Amino acid sequence: MDEKNFVHELKSPAFSGIIFWAIFSLLGVFSEPRNDFFKESMLMTNLIKQAAVDLVKGKYAIALTGAGISTESGIPDFRGPSGVWTRDPEAERRAYRVYAQFQEDPKRYWIDRLTIPSLLGNLDQYAPNPGHLALAEMEKMGILKWVITQNVDGLHQKAGSRRVLDYHGNAFKLRCVSCGSRFESGDFDLKKIMGEDRLPPLCSGCGGVLKSDVVHFHEPIPSDVAEQSLEEASRCDVALICGTSAVVYPFARLPQVAKQRPPGSKSVIIEINAEPTPLTERGISDYLLQGKTGEMLPKILEEVKGLKGIKK
Ligand SMILES: [Zn+2]
Repeated sequence: MDEKNFVHELKSPAFSGIIFWAIFSLLGVFSEPRNDFFKESMLMTNLIKQAAVDLVKGKYAIALTGAGISTESGIPDFRGPSGVWTRDPEAERRAYRVYAQFQEDPKRYWIDRLTIPSLLGNLDQYAPNPGHLALAEMEKMGILKWVITQNVDGLHQKAGSRRVLDYHGNAFKLRCVSCGSRFESGDFDLKKIMGEDRLPPLCSGCGGVLKSDVVHFHEPIPSDVAEQSLEEASRCDVALICGTSAVVYPFARLPQVAKQRPPGSKSVIIEINAEPTPLTERGISDYLLQGKTGEMLPKILEEVKGLKGIKK
């Protein structure tokens, strides 16, 4: 094709059509993701508002929390890509034997606890993040009645939450295996007790053996916490599920119990997770706010304050 013919071709309707098609396609390529982005952020804003409306309308809201809210404070998780177990499968195998070891030889269990470094490091060094703080503030406002957490790090309490059920125990507490009483571990000088060869520590109430309050593999959930958690889940009309896929039983029962309602009553299950979970896929959650709990919860709190007429 010589130059003349090429110019002629350019001017022909067919060729201009192709050019226009190409330009529009390119525009489409660049503009569609942007549309999706706007659509998604609009949808997210609406869902945040919806969550605030549901919380304010609800009469008895609870929160169920898991590892996701703690990893945002820098605490390592167990089964994530760089989790404690993923990096050290032998440590997981050892963890499965800890409860049996306690039952067989509580003194040995305590010596190991006091001499082998903890897998999570020193939990004292971690601070609550804006997600924990938002939940604590919702409790102070009278909106949130209970936090039921799978985390053992005590960060909800550090954030100011007072009504917390530590479903898997609390690393800062000891529990009597005979009467179930709990004690602050800081009240015991365990190294001194070990030095005086008086391990295991004993309950000041009944003389029973104390173990860490943390629930080990194969150990049943302490009955007081298990029963009250079920009661709160069956009583709530709004459940905020934060940073957990809730697949580990028996905790996994709680979202299901919160969802099931007698005829004529309804509950709203709001999920805040980084990715969709089986709760999303099985329709247990009514909607998913996809993102970090440390970002979503403060946004919901702001909307709640707006609805309640509280100045920001
Ligand atoms: Zn006791």
